[in-house]
Amino acid sequence: MSSTQPKTYESIAPKRVAFLGLGVMGYPMAAHLLLSGHHVTVYNRTPAKAQAFLAEYGHTQRVKTATTPKAAAQGAEVVFCCVGNDHDLAQVILGDEGALNGMDPHTLLVDHTTASAQIARELFEHSIKAGIDFIDAPVSGGQAGAQNGLLTVMCGGKREAFELIRPLAMAFSKACTYMGDSGAGQLTKMVNQICIAGLVQALSEGIAFGMKAGLDMNVVLDVISKGAAQSWQMENRGKTMVADQFDFGFAVDWMRKDLNIVLQEAQKNGAKLPVTALVDQFYADVQDLGGKRWDTSSLIKRLT
Ligand code: NAP
Repeated sequence: MSSTQPKTYESIAPKRVAFLGLGVMGYPMAAHLLLSGHHVTVYNRTPAKAQAFLAEYGHTQRVKTATTPKAAAQGAEVVFCCVGNDHDLAQVILGDEGALNGMDPHTLLVDHTTASAQIARELFEHSIKAGIDFIDAPVSGGQAGAQNGLLTVMCGGKREAFELIRPLAMAFSKACTYMGDSGAGQLTKMVNQICIAGLVQALSEGIAFGMKAGLDMNVVLDVISKGAAQSWQMENRGKTMVADQFDFGFAVDWMRKDLNIVLQEAQKNGAKLPVTALVDQFYADVQDLGGKRWDTSSLIKRLT
C-alpha cells in the first residue's frame, strides 16, 4: 500500500507512540515515525489498513495494532491523529472508546487533521482537564509530501508541548513551526487554503484561455513559470491540467470541507473572502461533474 520513501532522520531517543487514522496521509506519516526508530501502535477504523501496516512493517518488531483509539493510546507517550473532519475527531478523541480515555496524564496528543479552530480549542480544553497537552498541527504538502517525509506542519498550543513534539514530527516533515495558542495551527492552514483557492482558479483561466487561443500550453507553462506568475500549482499541476489528468492529489471533497471551515471562521472574524466564496461554489460545480475525488486542479473542467 505504501510507497514511503525513507529519509535521513534526526537522532532522538525512541518513544512509544500511537497513530490514529492510516489514510492517504496517516499511513506514510506513521511509517516515518516507525522508520525513525519509535515504537508505533496503529489504529484504523477499517482494520484492513492497520493489518496492511503490520504486514509491511511488522519485521521491525516495533509495530502493534489496536482495535480502538483508546486501546492504541494506552501506554503511549505521544498520540498522533489524522482523520477526516471535526466530527471524526470528536469520535476518535472524545468518544467512550476515544484516545483521551486511554491516555495517561503528562502525555501529548497531536492532531494533524485539517479541522476547525473551534474543535482544536475544545480538544485542548478536554486534554488539559486530563493533564494532557494538545497540539493542533495540520499539514500541507499532500500525499507526496507525506510519503517523502517532507510535509509542512503548522502548530498551535503550548510552546513547551510544541518543543517536545517537534523532533518527532520532523520524521515526516521538512518544517514544523509554532504558530501560537491553541487553534493557531488550524488558522494558519486556513490561510494556506484561501491562497490556493484563488490561485488555482486563476491558473485554470490562464490555461483555458491559452488553449482556446491555440497556444502550445506546455511551452507557455515552461516560459511563464520562470517569471512572476510562477507558483507551486503551476509547476506541479499546470501540465497535468493541460493533459486533462486529475486522478491524483488533493480531493475536491476535502477542499470543499476546508473552504467551508474557512468561510465559517471568516463569518466570526469579519474577514472578507469574495473570491474564496466564489471558488467554493465553482468546486461545487466540479462535484456535480463527478469530480468529488478529483484533484483540486480540476477547477479547469468547468472552463474547457
Ligand atoms: P483519507 O485517506 O480519507 O483518510 C482518512 C482517515 O481517517 C482514514 O484512516 C479513516 O478511516 C479515518 N477516519 C475518518 N473518519 C473516522 C472516524 N469517524 N473514526 C475513525 N476513523 C476515521 O484522508 P487523508 O487524505 O489521509 O486526509 C486526512 C486529513 O488530512 C484530512 O483532514 C485532510 O483534509 C487532511 N489533508 C489531506 C491532504 C491530502 O493531500 N490528502 C493534504 C493535507 C491535509 P477508514 O480507513 O476506516 O475510512
